[in-house]
Amino acid sequence: MNKPAQKVAELYYFELLPLHPQPQPLESLTSYLSRLAISNGFISFAALSELVFPAQHQASLYRFKDCPPLSLGKLPLITSHPATILLPTTFYHLARKFGRSVATAQVTHFLDGSLAQHLRFCPRCLQDYNCYFLTWRFKALRGCAEHGCHLLEQCGQCGQEIPLLTNPLSIGVCPGCKKALKSVVSPALSKRRREASLRQQRDLAYLLTPEPMEANEVAPQVVKQLGRDLRQRRLSRSQSIREVAKALKLPSAQIVFIEQGRLKQGTASFRAYQIYANYFDLTLFDLFAMVRAELV
Ligand SMILES: [Zn+2]
Ligand SMILES: [Zn+2]
Repeated sequence: MNKPAQKVAELYYFELLPLHPQPQPLESLTSYLSRLAISNGFISFAALSELVFPAQHQASLYRFKDCPPLSLGKLPLITSHPATILLPTTFYHLARKFGRSVATAQVTHFLDGSLAQHLRFCPRCLQDYNCYFLTWRFKALRGCAEHGCHLLEQCGQCGQEIPLLTNPLSIGVCPGCKKALKSVVSPALSKRRREASLRQQRDLAYLLTPEPMEANEVAPQVVKQLGRDLRQRRLSRSQSIREVAKALKLPSAQIVFIEQGRLKQGTASFRAYQIYANYFDLTLFDLFAMVRAELV
C-alpha cells in the first residue's frame, strides 16, 4: 500500500465506528447517540462525549439534549451519515419552519414550555423499536396512537423519572431499579384521546421533517402569511386580541407577535402557536398546508 492510501486506511479505521446504524425515523438525538455507543460496545458517557466533541467539555453533550448543536462535531465522520440524516434527530426542522435561528439557546427559548426535560415513553414502542422518539419530548402529545396507550412519565416499577441521557448510557432501562421500561403495561387511551394523539403525532412528524417551505428565503413569508390567516379567523369571529388571549390564557403580546409574523423584537413561542391554531380547531399542519396553497 502506498503512503497516502495507508494514511486514508488508518484514518478510516480510527475515525469510523465499526457499527454505525442509521437513526430511525423521528428518533431523538439523545436516543441515537446512546444506541450508537451501546452498539459499539461502550457505555461510558465520557467516552461518547470525547468521541463526538473531543474539544468540548462533557457537559456540553448533555446541554444540547435534542436541540441542534452548533456543530455536529465528529458525528458525521464517525457514523458516515451526513448532516441531512443527523439533523432530523433534533428540533432543527421545526425551528426552521417558523423562520427561527437554529442556535441551541434560541431553539430552547422558542420551545420553552413545550418540552419535557425527562424521558416520556410508550413501553410497547420500546419493545418494537428499541429507541426513543423526538415526538415524546412534547408535553402536548399525551399518548401513543399506534399502541393506543398513554405515554409514561416515569419508571412503572420504582416511579423514578428517567433522564434523557443516562450515565452509564442505556436505552430502555431504568437507571434507578435497573428494570426494563418495556415491561410495564401503560393504561389504554380513550377513543377521543387516541384520535387526538394521532392528530398531534402527525402534526409533530410534519414539523420535525424537512420540506422546501422552510428555506431561509421562504420561511419568513410563510410565518407572515400564517399570522395573517389567524388574524382573519379571529376577525371573522369578531373577537379582540384581548378576548382571545384571555380565553387561551396567553399574554396578549403573544397573539400580536403571531399575527404580525414577528421574527425579532418580540417573538411568539411554539406553544402559543399550537394553542392559537387549536383555538380554531386546526393543527399547525393544517395551517402550513393552507399557507402553502396561498403562496404557490
Ligand atoms: Zn407505542
Ligand atoms: Zn425504576
